[in-house]
Amino acid sequence: MPRDGHGRIIDYLRISVMDRCNLRCSYCMPLEGLRFVPDEDLLTADEISLVARAAVSCGFRKFRITGGEPTLRRDLIEVVAGIRAEGPDVEIGMTTNGILLPRMARDLKDAGLDRVNIHIDTLDEVRIRQVMRFADVQKIMTGIEAAEDAGLTPIKLNSVVVRGDNDTDVVELARQTLTRPWGVRFIELMPMGDGDESKLALSQVVSSEETMERIADSIGPLIPLPATHPSDESRNYQFSGGIGTVGFISPVSDPFCSACNRVRLSAEGKLLLCLLRDDEADLRAVIRGGGGVEAVSHALRQSILLKPVGHALDEGIHASRRMHEIGG
Ligand code: SAM
Ligand code: SF4
Repeated sequence: MPRDGHGRIIDYLRISVMDRCNLRCSYCMPLEGLRFVPDEDLLTADEISLVARAAVSCGFRKFRITGGEPTLRRDLIEVVAGIRAEGPDVEIGMTTNGILLPRMARDLKDAGLDRVNIHIDTLDEVRIRQVMRFADVQKIMTGIEAAEDAGLTPIKLNSVVVRGDNDTDVVELARQTLTRPWGVRFIELMPMGDGDESKLALSQVVSSEETMERIADSIGPLIPLPATHPSDESRNYQFSGGIGTVGFISPVSDPFCSACNRVRLSAEGKLLLCLLRDDEADLRAVIRGGGGVEAVSHALRQSILLKPVGHALDEGIHASRRMHEIGG
């Protein structure tokens, strides 16, 4: 098992396969001034498989495909099958806005994907456009159904809570867990990128505590559930009689850095050592310089040793990349 310089076991790799997206969520992608990785600089499916082989040989047990929007990648099925071939027993999840799932959920399952997390900030068809701009609740719900039918379960839903946009809609999303077996998770807004947008983000953060109070006041008490894994970033609860769970991810008000078990691979092959800092290593350079699985494993282990102890949002430090370049 790879350990970082602070003794944490790092066995979870999040792989961004694409920095483009069919949506433009307000806190993730601005409407203008975006620059995307040129196609020739994206890691190919074979290169992603090579990184997965190296990671499995180091002891990684969990992989998540993300983006941008991973379902926009034309060879996504090949990417999933490639990771599965390298790790028959590892856990492979994907985070997606769900819109394109109806056309590919079954093929993804057959290729070896275990389950999906689907991003939906509100069930309100008008207000969703304030946060997820070009999104459509009905299309995302159809994506959720397709994932359920294909067995990409248990399904988790991610909602980023933004003050003034969807902070009161958390109640209806949480209510779904009374009758559906979903893990609905509310995520505190994180400041990302350079410039004014990150300052705006800080002014719109809603703490998990506030979200939790709003939900409990409207629906009833939230009963705490035991943690499934020490590195689970979500604190999970259930309503009495509910069949799903309600989770809170609190990177701003209650960071989980001390239990962090993950590193990230960007679509252009940079290994990102912390979601909220710029520390990185260039794995694509190792691969395209002719390095095979041993060279990539060596680079992985050496880089992990340099993983920062935690983020420093309270010192005003955050990543200069935007979330669509990192994968969440
Ligand atoms: N497009 C997919 C999606 O939206 O799920 C995958 C990529 S997206 C970057 C991954 C996750 O990041 C999203 O589910 C969303 O919950 C989260 N996210 C994006 N920007 C965020 C921000 N500024 N603060 C907190 N979470 C954010
Ligand atoms: Fe796209 Fe996901 Fe970013 Fe929204 S959060 S713009 S769906 S990558």
